[in-house]
Amino acid sequence: MKKDEMIRMKIEDISSEGLGIGHADGMAVFVKDTVIGDEITAKIIKVKKTYTYGRLMDLVQASLDRTEPVCRVARQCGGCQLQAMDYQAQLRFKENKVRNNLIRIGGFDPELLNRIMEPIIGMEDPFRYRNKAQFPIGTDREGNLIAGFYAGRTHSIIDNHDCALGVKENKEILEIVLEHMRRLGISAYNETTGKGLMRHVMIRYGFRTKQIMVCLVVNGRKIPGEKELVQALTAIPGMMSIVLNVNRENTNVILGREIRLLWGQEYIEDYIGEVKYQISPLSFYQVNPVQTEKLYGTALEYAGLTGSETVWDLYCGIGTISLFLAQRAGKVYGVEIVPEAIEDAKRNAALNHFTNTEFYVGKAEEVLPEKYEKDNIFADVIVIDPPRKGCEEKVLATMVKMAPRRIVYVSCDCATLARDLKYLCGQGYELKRVRATDMFPMSVHVETVCLLSNRKPDTKFSSNFGYF
Ligand code: SAH
Repeated sequence: MKKDEMIRMKIEDISSEGLGIGHADGMAVFVKDTVIGDEITAKIIKVKKTYTYGRLMDLVQASLDRTEPVCRVARQCGGCQLQAMDYQAQLRFKENKVRNNLIRIGGFDPELLNRIMEPIIGMEDPFRYRNKAQFPIGTDREGNLIAGFYAGRTHSIIDNHDCALGVKENKEILEIVLEHMRRLGISAYNETTGKGLMRHVMIRYGFRTKQIMVCLVVNGRKIPGEKELVQALTAIPGMMSIVLNVNRENTNVILGREIRLLWGQEYIEDYIGEVKYQISPLSFYQVNPVQTEKLYGTALEYAGLTGSETVWDLYCGIGTISLFLAQRAGKVYGVEIVPEAIEDAKRNAALNHFTNTEFYVGKAEEVLPEKYEKDNIFADVIVIDPPRKGCEEKVLATMVKMAPRRIVYVSCDCATLARDLKYLCGQGYELKRVRATDMFPMSVHVETVCLLSNRKPDTKFSSNFGYF
């Protein structure tokens, strides 16, 4: 295949960046702005060794799954990849992605998956689900102040105050900030020159409590007319926290370390299920609270707790899953690499009066083997929720040695999930249940929860796995 060649093909899949994928001349062709099922003509714009990129030239026959995007900037904006695809089709796509990876990478039998895969948990309303928004502030070509989102793969800002994934309150807040900047001639930060004051406006919203936090990220220590700005913002119902975040680094990391409280309290509160969380400007917190509750509900159900079990929660973050499990377990141990996250976990455990949790800072692949070798730790159930790259083999091998009755694997990347499940199923575990949850409608991401059970429970002290 050559550059500028015209091809005709059908779109069969979507890449992790949201590009449609078709095949021509035995090569994969990636084409932006297409949907699975589209029949298109495309012009080849870039040729690599094993794949190519094409530009959509003509939509010969539109896919039946096409729909009109809700957002007027859906095409340019880097936030959503699937808005042009009907929501039910998005769910089918995600479920298939999990299934195909389990077959292709995990080596699982399609027949088995037909039996054990439960239907994906989608959203009733797949918009306005995010409890956190971070709007970069900038200027357009004419020098007017703008706020919105970065265009796909770039740092140029698309002006949009009402992202369809965010809450309605975002727009009003942004417009108050922009109006204040215009009135007092406050400059927007420029990434190239490193000059200008206002960088980002971050807004957090507690879905259950309706509490709002505004965090103004500033290349400096002060905002001119701070008092007036605060006064205007406090008129918004639910405002609980207004903070200034100092970020003077020339970096694309959004938040700096230093926080100054401008008004109210330094955190907002929200609930997942019955568990209450304090959320600070720098805290990690799941962005889709409605689906998070369902995801953790699946994990809890799969854990099959009766109230007495010892549970390890690896990659526990701020302990959200740990606390969910602690409601029904004898004891929960959490392990997480980020020290601040563990501080949050401890604080939230105390806030909810849990006395059956303990948290360790460190790498799962170091903490778990060490505790196992030294303290001979034990687990009835192990829950893991690793980052995209999945688990290091050391973690998997130690889990096998610990021989818990059940392993619940929560995954944000079904390719590494499939790889890790293959390992565990080769070492005495059996895949029992699989269920995907759509945590990020309009994006290509999918979360999956799997239940593995020990084929030979209570083999901890036998020689079945060849480890003893
Ligand atoms: N279970 C949590 C967070 C899961 S995200 C929740 O649902 O909120 C994955 C977490 O793993 C992140 O908090 C990340 O900081 C942590 N992490 C990444 N690598 C790790 C490692 N090697 N050992 C322990 N934790 C790690």
